Amino acid sequence: MGDYESYMKGSPLEVKVITKRFGLANSTSIDVYLETDGYQALAKAFEMGPAAVISEVKNSGLRGRGGAGFNTGMKWSFVPKDTSKPKYIVCNADESEPGTCKDRPLMESDPHQLIEGIIIAGFAIGARQGYIYIRGEYRYLLDILDRAIAEAYGRGYLGRNILNSGFDFELATHTGAGAYECGEETALLNSLEGLRGYPRVKPPFPAVVGLYGCPTIVNNVETLCNVPAILRMGAEAYARLGTPKNGGTRLFCLSGHIRRPGVYELPMGFNLKRMIEEVGGGVPGGKALKAVIPGGSSCPVLAASEVDVAMDFESVARIGSMLGSGGVIIMDEDTCMVKALLRIEKFYAHESCGWCIPCREGTAWLKNLLQRFHDGGGTEQDPDTALDVSFNILGKTLCPLGDAAALPGISFIQKFRHEFEEHLKLGACPFERRAVAVT
Ligand code: SF4
Repeated sequence: MGDYESYMKGSPLEVKVITKRFGLANSTSIDVYLETDGYQALAKAFEMGPAAVISEVKNSGLRGRGGAGFNTGMKWSFVPKDTSKPKYIVCNADESEPGTCKDRPLMESDPHQLIEGIIIAGFAIGARQGYIYIRGEYRYLLDILDRAIAEAYGRGYLGRNILNSGFDFELATHTGAGAYECGEETALLNSLEGLRGYPRVKPPFPAVVGLYGCPTIVNNVETLCNVPAILRMGAEAYARLGTPKNGGTRLFCLSGHIRRPGVYELPMGFNLKRMIEEVGGGVPGGKALKAVIPGGSSCPVLAASEVDVAMDFESVARIGSMLGSGGVIIMDEDTCMVKALLRIEKFYAHESCGWCIPCREGTAWLKNLLQRFHDGGGTEQDPDTALDVSFNILGKTLCPLGDAAALPGISFIQKFRHEFEEHLKLGACPFERRAVAVT
């Protein structure tokens, strides 16, 4: 079960839909899965038929949990029905957004839930082959997943004529080499085909032209894990757990300056302030909250005054940020926002695939400028230059990594400009100075 207890602290406020087997003895085994409603949804899917499954998932309000938040059933409905080409379902397990660590426990503790979700998705779109694409750093998960896949073959849930339905489905795992870029669905497909993990120009979208040029659905791990629960509970009951446009629950990863960091399953629309205070236990050491990144490092930062917000896609967008991948990063009053931004930009400069110039050059410029600035060599023009560079990346790149680097740059500088000015005035990092003075 891995180090489940280190990141699954648990909270009475949780609503356990896809984490209900976490902590059970042998939770990865097919016997435990079958004893706890496992593979019931698959049998139900075969009774319903593909079109009804798609419409059930559409009506549940399930939206992609990888970050984009697109309605999952709607995405499935884009796969052409009248094609003679093979169709594919690909599970995106390339979880690499800083601050996000929720797909990992889903695979580590309940691999059959994911496998069942993939088979149902394959049945709904008419695919006969599925792949789980795992980031290189999660290579150790291969053992767990491959064992679970072998168990599913052994019990007739994978392979030929599954449960006498006439439906055949094969599933295999595949590891990436560890590139953030391969979390982008078209770069992932290139990597899966054995090519360099560069993104493809869209349109055409993978639902029409995907793996090997054939219709392909790429869904995130958490998204697919919700599918069995939707069919078991029914779309309406599942949708009611969340808000009108955001069905179900969501795994939120609380990290940073928080008393109880961990992964928590909460209803969509759960208030962020309550999440920090009541679920995570608040900021440690009696310190004040300074800022929160609500959905992984690519999302615009929120100031402490903005955190009284419902964590659903629309509400977070209304205050200028994004729900993203569920990685909630909490920063206390002693956090240097210049250094925090520098850390983020170092990551994106390192992960840029280098294909398009605004991202390749812009992320490197941001990193270098912020490093110099933080080290005491800044100029008055630097904050505006960094803003200018960020705006020249934003919306001008082939894939979302460019925006992922630009959006934090813009929000950190606009909301915490006074900290940049303090660095300039002092010719050094005021937070590091204070820390030295205290010790
Ligand atoms: Fe590569 Fe960055 Fe361009 Fe994406 S935005 S294609 S990561 S260079």
